[in-house]
Amino acid sequence: MLLLTPGPTPVPENIRMAMSEPTIHHRTSEFEEIFAKTKVLLKELFNMEEVLMLASSGTGAMEACVLNLCKSKALTINAGKFGERFSEICKAHGKDFTELKYDWDTPANIDDIVNSVKNDKKIDAIFIQICESSGGLRHPVEIIAKELKKIRPKIMIVADGITAVGVEKIDTTNIDALISGSQKALMLPPGLALIGLSHDGIKIIKESGAGYYLNLKIELAQQKNNTTAYTSATTLIVGLKTILEQLHVDGFNKLYIDTKRRSHGAKKALKEIGLTIFPKSSAVAMSAVYDKDAMKIRELLKSKYMVNIAGGQNHLKTTLFRINHMGLVDDYKTAWTLNAIEIVLEEIGRRSYNGTANKIFTKEIIQ
Ligand SMILES: *Cc1c(COP(=O)(O)O)cnc(C)c1O
Repeated sequence: MLLLTPGPTPVPENIRMAMSEPTIHHRTSEFEEIFAKTKVLLKELFNMEEVLMLASSGTGAMEACVLNLCKSKALTINAGKFGERFSEICKAHGKDFTELKYDWDTPANIDDIVNSVKNDKKIDAIFIQICESSGGLRHPVEIIAKELKKIRPKIMIVADGITAVGVEKIDTTNIDALISGSQKALMLPPGLALIGLSHDGIKIIKESGAGYYLNLKIELAQQKNNTTAYTSATTLIVGLKTILEQLHVDGFNKLYIDTKRRSHGAKKALKEIGLTIFPKSSAVAMSAVYDKDAMKIRELLKSKYMVNIAGGQNHLKTTLFRINHMGLVDDYKTAWTLNAIEIVLEEIGRRSYNGTANKIFTKEIIQ
């Protein structure tokens, strides 16, 4: 069965093999060396001054950023389940916040955000997804970050890049914390979260950490010495080192180019067979299609054509399907998926099959 859900993504065989070595102790020079090498590669991938590794899923990193980077009031951007999660984290910790809400297909409005910050002196941090995975939506985070730094230079810009880091080149000039997780573009099993930090982000954390397990002040101090505050996710870090070294051979840029071409080709093919791309501004990480038959299409793909793609969540549960483009996806797998979707459209009486999807996609990727 092809696993083409936008997280978790399949773990390549050589990475699984690398992680099958006997467990090593985390307080050893042997592990510190692995940690140090991984960190060098992570800093290049994130293009940031520091990158922390936490033993948690991505949400742990989101919570750590709310705790450690927002001291007064947060601005959260909710255009889907993951944006909503930042608000819920604020609520859980009794942190003051304002939420800007958008439809799941609509990118955050830059003026709304600038005005919200202008009109509220208490806001000292903004929390936003680069790709809001619930609708495959791309927010204009880099522009928002730039505009906000102009009017409030000390504001912390926290970007959830769980489905953007390792997918596309992100301009981190004005981003203070960039969050990622192991099970999406990095093709690892779930359980490791990453936080890239800017110079200013590091400064705020050093001034006052918060929380216990997620106290980033303590993590910063420990990870400077190539160890973690508590037991490291050693196996996942070994896997991370292996995949980053592999990607680094051809350069991270090659990964971005391949991912973009696959993503662009798939979207073009889907449109060409009469389907509707859901978001008004699409992320590279996935193709999200809005369709009244989404549920039926997914069921047939799985039962007859060995393809597992994701559906939607909440109000889009039965009307959205999402195809992953993150990581090292062989082109033939995406081609087969698109071809199978076209066959299924004929089976449910929507259009007659003539191989258009495959043709369009193949043309895009072999040019
Ligand atoms: C997957 C995802 C998360 C959540 O990560 P978990 O690892 O499930 O905690 C957060 N944000 C975005 C944008 C995601 O795609």
